[in-house]
Amino acid sequence: MILREISFERFVFTCAGCDHAWVADYDVQHVEDGHGHARDYFYRGGLHCSDPTGLGETTCPHCGRTSVIADHSAGQTSTAARATASQLSDTM
Ligand SMILES: [Zn+2]
Repeated sequence: MILREISFERFVFTCAGCDHAWVADYDVQHVEDGHGHARDYFYRGGLHCSDPTGLGETTCPHCGRTSVIADHSAGQTSTAARATASQLSDTM
């Protein structure tokens, strides 16, 4: 497996049951398996955890429901953007 990138990503969760909203930060390892397949591995506090955007993977701390909407576009770090920018300058 080839580790492509480790990024620090912030997810904003909103509970569809009680409208409770909270934020959690994850370390995300973007890994390629050498066959062109990419996978993301999520870590929180150094511990491996499941993909927080997966259905039913995140539980609302307020009401305990699993109908939680995860959005990580809001607080995504610019690690990926910087990598893209450097790749662009290399090809020019
Ligand atoms: Zn809730």
